[in-house]
Amino acid sequence: MNDHEVDVLVVGAGLGGLSTAMFLARQGVRVLVVERRSGLSPYPRAAGQNPRTMELLRIGGVADEVTRANDIRGAQGDFVIRLAQSVRGEVLRTVAESFDDMVAATQPCTPAGWAMLSQDKLEPILLGQAQRHGGAIRFDTRLVSFDQDADGVTARLQGPGGEYDLRA
Ligand SMILES: Cc1cc2nc3c(=O)[nH]c(=O)nc-3n(C[C@H](O)[C@H](O)[C@H](O)COP(=O)(O)OP(=O)(O)OC[C@H]3O[C@@H](n4cnc5c(N)ncnc54)[C@H](O)[C@@H]3O)c2cc1C
Repeated sequence: MNDHEVDVLVVGAGLGGLSTAMFLARQGVRVLVVERRSGLSPYPRAAGQNPRTMELLRIGGVADEVTRANDIRGAQGDFVIRLAQSVRGEVLRTVAESFDDMVAATQPCTPAGWAMLSQDKLEPILLGQAQRHGGAIRFDTRLVSFDQDADGVTARLQGPGGEYDLRA
């Protein structure tokens, strides 16, 4: 990949950016992710992939890897989803009383299952798949500004060696 020109520049290596990079790379698009932090986030944050997400991860070619890595078994018994006014407030609706309820509700719609993988485990899988398909990432690199014209975008990036322009 040319250091200063790509098809698509993705800013931010979170779930959104890494998924985008993975899907684009698998279509043969030259994609570069820039992330201002020094690596992927170590924090677990969102845990839980519903069947629609698993369908998309299957298209991305990582559903099996996510299923193998998933640690849902530990959480199954305690899985309750309620919509409420507040944590201790009036419950407006109970979506699921158990993990089995959720599986039963989605099974007629899709062969895809559920997974329970936190972001610190899912994001490296998305990045690995993007890289296997030619996507690239630059850590310690921040988007400073960008200018758009009729043909694309010129992004001003700040990396470890200073500022430079990249065309996308
Ligand atoms: C404690 C916690 C628990 C959560 N639990 C859940 C949950 O149970 N379920 C759920 O659905 N969601 C949950 N979330 C929310 C979930 O983490 C976010 O919705 C998700 O991370 C958003 O992904 P994203 O890619 O849009 O953004 P982010 O993950 O925030 O990624 C954005 C990235 O862009 C980088 N960036 C920003 N600006 C620049 C720049 N100028 N140049 C370079 N890089 C830049 C940032 O460093 C960051 O890494 C939780 C969040 C937290 C904090």
